[in-house]
Amino acid sequence: MPNKEVLLKVSNLKTYFPVKVPFRIGKRSVLKAVDDISLNLYKGETLGIVGESGSGKSTLGRTILKLVEPTDGEIIFEGQHLEKLKSKALQVHRNQMQMIFQDPFGSLNPRMRIEKIIEEPIKMHTTLTKSERKKRVVELIEKVGLSEEALKKLPHEFSGGQRQRIGIARALAINPKLIIADEPVSALDVSIQSQVLNLLLDLQDEFELTYLFISHDLSVIKHISDRVAVMYLGRIVEIATKDSLYANPLHPYTKALLSAIPVVNFDQKREEIPITGELPSPVDPPVGCAFHQRCPFAMEKCKQNRPLLKEVNDQQQVACFLYEEKEKKENTVSSMVQV
Ligand code: SF4
Repeated sequence: MPNKEVLLKVSNLKTYFPVKVPFRIGKRSVLKAVDDISLNLYKGETLGIVGESGSGKSTLGRTILKLVEPTDGEIIFEGQHLEKLKSKALQVHRNQMQMIFQDPFGSLNPRMRIEKIIEEPIKMHTTLTKSERKKRVVELIEKVGLSEEALKKLPHEFSGGQRQRIGIARALAINPKLIIADEPVSALDVSIQSQVLNLLLDLQDEFELTYLFISHDLSVIKHISDRVAVMYLGRIVEIATKDSLYANPLHPYTKALLSAIPVVNFDQKREEIPITGELPSPVDPPVGCAFHQRCPFAMEKCKQNRPLLKEVNDQQQVACFLYEEKEKKENTVSSMVQV
C-alpha cells in the first residue's frame, strides 16, 4: 500500500515548444504540450497518466526526467529542485529515476549483447567490480523471468515481451526509486501485456518502487494504478484514486473515455457520453475550458473561463464548472435550511 510520503512534487510545470505557423513565413507560435501541471507522487504508489494521443502525457514524463527542458515550474525529487540542477548534480538524481519505453527494440542497441546492455549503466554509475557487475546482471535477468542464457544473445533474438523484460532489467540496474513507464505494454499482444504488468507489480513490491505509468489504455491503467490522472490538451482535468475514478468519474471527458470501454457484464453498462470531434491543436487551444467544443454539457461560461482543478471529495479533484454549479446549489439549499 502506498504511504503519504511525497517522493516527487511537480508544481505549475510547463513545457512549451516554439513552432512555425504553416503558410505564414517568419510567424511563430507556441505548442503548449504541458500546461501548468501540479501533482504529488507518493512513495510506493503507481500514478497512472491517461489521455488521448497528443494530450501531453509523454512530454510530462520526459520533462520530469529533464529529457525535455521545462519552460517553467518546479520538479522536486526527494526535496531537491531538479529544474535548477545542471549536468553532474542532475545526473546523481536522475539515476534514481529511470524510464521504460514503449518500443523496447528501439531502445536496445541492436549490436550489443544483452549482458552489455544491462551492464552498461552499472559500469557508468557504480563502482562495482567486473565480477560484482556480472553477478548483478545475472540477478537482474532472472528477476525479470529470463535465464542466464539470454545474456549471450542480441535483441533481435527475442520476442517483444522478452525485449520489454530486458528493458525493465536495464531500468532496474542501478536501483532507481522512481520508474517512468511510457506506454510500456502498448506494443505487446494482450496476453503478454498482463504478464509484463504483473512483473512490474511484483518488482514494485520487491524493490519498493514508485511508478508514473503513462498509457492511453484505461484497462491497462486500471490494472496497475493506485491513483489516476486524466490529461487533456496538456492539463490534468481529473485526478482521483483508481476506485473513485472508475466507479464515479466526474469530468465529462473521463466519463466519455470510460463509456467507450467495452463491458462484459451488461448490468454494469455505463451511461454513454458522446464525444465528438478531434482533439484540438495544443498550438491554438480553445479559449475557456479546452474541452468545451466536444463537451455535451458545455455552458456559456465554459467558452470564456478556464476551470481550475478543485477538490470535490477527499478522493477526487476535477476541473469542471459543473461541480462548482453543484456546490453553489448545495450551499444555497443548506443556507435556506438554516434560515
Ligand atoms: Fe464541459 Fe464546461 Fe465542464 Fe468544460 S467546464 S468539461 S465545457 S461542463
